[in-house]
Amino acid sequence: MINNFDLIVIGAGSGGLAAAKRAAGYGANVAIIEGDQIGGTCVIRGCVPKKLMVYAANERSNMINSERNGLYFNNLSFDSSILLKNVKQEVARLSNLHYESLNKLDIKVFRGWGRFKDSNQVEIICPKTNKLLKTLKSKKILIAVGGKPKSLDIVGAEFAWSSNEIFDLNNFPKSLLIVGGGYIACEFSCIFNNLGTKVTQLVRSDKLLNGFDSDLSMSIQESMTSSGINLIFKDELVSISKNNENFDLIFKSGFSKKEENILIASGREPNIDNLNLDNVGLNMKGGFIEVNESNQSSQSTIFAIGDVIDKPNLTPVAIEQGRVFSDNYFGNKKRSISYKFIPKAVFTNPEISSVGLTEEEAINIYLNENIKVFKCRFTPMSNTFKKQKTKCMLKLVVNKLDDKVLGCHMFGETASEIIQMASIAMNKGVTKREFDETMALHPTISEEFVTMY
Ligand code: NDP
Repeated sequence: MINNFDLIVIGAGSGGLAAAKRAAGYGANVAIIEGDQIGGTCVIRGCVPKKLMVYAANERSNMINSERNGLYFNNLSFDSSILLKNVKQEVARLSNLHYESLNKLDIKVFRGWGRFKDSNQVEIICPKTNKLLKTLKSKKILIAVGGKPKSLDIVGAEFAWSSNEIFDLNNFPKSLLIVGGGYIACEFSCIFNNLGTKVTQLVRSDKLLNGFDSDLSMSIQESMTSSGINLIFKDELVSISKNNENFDLIFKSGFSKKEENILIASGREPNIDNLNLDNVGLNMKGGFIEVNESNQSSQSTIFAIGDVIDKPNLTPVAIEQGRVFSDNYFGNKKRSISYKFIPKAVFTNPEISSVGLTEEEAINIYLNENIKVFKCRFTPMSNTFKKQKTKCMLKLVVNKLDDKVLGCHMFGETASEIIQMASIAMNKGVTKREFDETMALHPTISEEFVTMY
């Protein structure tokens, strides 16, 4: 086997796979190193299995809300082991598909953990024995190892699950404390709550989803509370101790509580500890690998993409970084990444989705007097016969000076699908007038985006 590659990719997640496939498509001799299943966080323990759980949770929520449609599910039962088994099977199927596509492109897959020997050589370590399996050489090396959950520095943190262990469960818990107010905490609060787990969510600040538009945070808070999630704000977990089958929890406020299970979702950090970065002396910034606009690190042969660099930690961003990297260095196509209008979604029930600036950000940049906000909040027709009449919320943030839409935000069913389309218009610099000139499609929720005055 040739052991002198054009490109070694460390990490077979979304970004690494995209880069490896694109480079191989240009005829490069590519190796990819992965110690876990092929697919990375998104496929194995993130977006994909999570979204499958979201679908199940939303179905149950709709069923128990359906009596006024004449639909009765009196003996509705949920066997979480079936859902979790099927989710694992689907993940394995997708992982295998990725593996097959690597083979088809003649990309050499090495099973093990990669670490740097020097700026052109990577050692592969056996995940089971920790022994050195092989050393590979390459002209270029791409770090695409992704992130890992950050835990809390508190007594007993080891008793809590992270978002990794959640995907290893065989059954859903009866009750659960979720720590955090971000993406993972909010999504799993809704999944578990809608599938019958009693959920308490502990948030250190005074609102959910910091960084999102405040109207979105308020909307989801109201909806999660009315769906039965116990939200505790402005408090923190300080210790966890085991007490027979349960855990004793102590909060900063002095409040104490027993819980059966705990999930800590307090952010993620680059998964770079075992890469032996000291051997190559890369410049770091705030815990991330420093790269230039071409994703090149301070060592000319080493590049980095995805959650190890200080850019939005989102799958499509990592994929684009991977493709742009390979287009530039193996396809001779000069391309750069646009980080301007990155759509975001939180798959709560209902969903939150956004593209562009929040109202708060727009005011900070353009000043209050130059910003106009269009907003509407109403009960969507789909909730007419539901017991829980969650209102949806649509919002446009507009620059009065040139009429450009700076931000488009939505809380409601299929918000992510709608905002994905709105982001095309935002990318092209759409104005409020152009929204107004667009014919509405009735009856939909999103028609309000083109009828707001
Ligand atoms: P987030 O950064 O979204 O949220 C972290 C949460 O933990 C915040 O509420 C934060 O509070 C809180 N927190 C941080 N430190 C502490 C602490 N010491 N004690 C108590 N609370 C703390 O991280 P997640 O783990 O939810 O998700 C990680 C990343 O993964 C996301 O940022 C996103 O990039 C990605 N992701 C994307 C998804 C999607 O696209 N739908 C889904 C899931 C993950 P505070 O706000 O006060 O800092």
